[in-house]
Amino acid sequence: MAQHTTVNLSAINKQIVVPTGLFINNEFVPSVDSKELIHAVNPATEDVICSVVAASAKDIDIAVAAARNAFKTTWGKNVTGFERSRLINKLADLIERDAQALAELEALNNGKPARIARDFDIGDSVQCLRYYAGWADKIIGQTLEVDNKSKLAFTRHDPIGVCGQIIPWNYPINMWAWKVAPALAVGCTIVMKPSELCPLTALKLSELVKEAGFPPGVINTVPSLGHVGGAALAAHPDVDKVAFTGSTITGRKVMEAAAKSNLKKVSLELGGKSPHLVFESADLDQAANWAALGICYNSGQDCTAGSRVYVQNSVYDKFIGLLVSKVKAQVVGDGLDEKSGGGPVVSKTQYDKVWGYIEAGKQEGAKAILGGEKRPGKGYYVDPTDEAIALANDTTYGLGAGLHSSTPTHF
Ligand code: NAD
Repeated sequence: MAQHTTVNLSAINKQIVVPTGLFINNEFVPSVDSKELIHAVNPATEDVICSVVAASAKDIDIAVAAARNAFKTTWGKNVTGFERSRLINKLADLIERDAQALAELEALNNGKPARIARDFDIGDSVQCLRYYAGWADKIIGQTLEVDNKSKLAFTRHDPIGVCGQIIPWNYPINMWAWKVAPALAVGCTIVMKPSELCPLTALKLSELVKEAGFPPGVINTVPSLGHVGGAALAAHPDVDKVAFTGSTITGRKVMEAAAKSNLKKVSLELGGKSPHLVFESADLDQAANWAALGICYNSGQDCTAGSRVYVQNSVYDKFIGLLVSKVKAQVVGDGLDEKSGGGPVVSKTQYDKVWGYIEAGKQEGAKAILGGEKRPGKGYYVDPTDEAIALANDTTYGLGAGLHSSTPTHF
């Protein structure tokens, strides 16, 4: 299989060349032992965009070995903070240069509007890289006072080593940058596993990694199915840290795999079920603006999505009217259309899940005030749907919350 393919962005009459191989040691390569492919789908049309190599557990071993070798020889403590900073800034420059193409590819594979991907996701990613580039040469330890005057105690911060990074599909470029930037800044090397639903922009970014001049093996990108490549990374005995963003259920598996293998360090960013609380003293127009943004942004596919809203009885009807008018104003369409404010949801699985919740809500007596009916034709579209607001307040999540009031409120 060729390691690149040309992809049509027919909605805007453009083409883009996309890597389809695993990115290991700065080269796009096939799997060493697997013929498994990941079929990247355009959620606006349900068409397969292209197929990319799905890494096997053996490929993960090779990527980890490449990252280990780079850590020992060209990165880690072998490179100055100044040089790490220079390369990260260079990568930020290249992403800025290619922002439009990256945004269009993100829209094609993820469904989110290219305009939003460019102005927010990519803009934020560039800032994130530059922020951590600024830290790279300022990582210092402390000198500590000790009782014995003949001794000097000090601390220094060393890079952890090889980091496995496993990211979800809802912000593929952001997640990539948020994971990669701090790890690079401190001198770690990386094996990045993007989501099998949206692997294309991580591969495109890998081209820029090489162009920026990072030594081979510093960042390796291995699209793979979660239970294959993700599980292999989490359980790998030569990975020093695994950074995971995704669902709570997978986060538990990652932590367990880390504990059962080499007790590698773990960071988990998991799901949420965040509430908005609207009190009668609130500026209701503002509260409705925030509540609409909170649930509609990124087609509701956000870890901090405000998926529960509690409204004080006295302003309930007024607030619902305002919220519906705000949500109605959003144009949901193909992400490649500059007019779209929201796109389809990312996949058939997600589409079925969301419609399952809408149907379950209706069966339990909820009334759809807006939306609630499927669109005819292709594409995983779920028009914004507001249901009469649920009052359940028991949740194990604690990711985000919005409070709308103009008076001090006690909890
Ligand atoms: P997911 O847990 O299904 O998948 C996340 C990643 O884990 C993917 O790359 C997947 O391939 C991989 N994976 C799957 N099984 C694995 C296994 N057994 N071992 C290791 N890796 C495995 O989540 P998703 O559906 O891709 O992402 C959406 C979720 O992410 C939502 O729950 C959302 O709330 C959460 N999220 C959280 C944050 C945050 O910062 N807290 C940000 C964005 C998304």
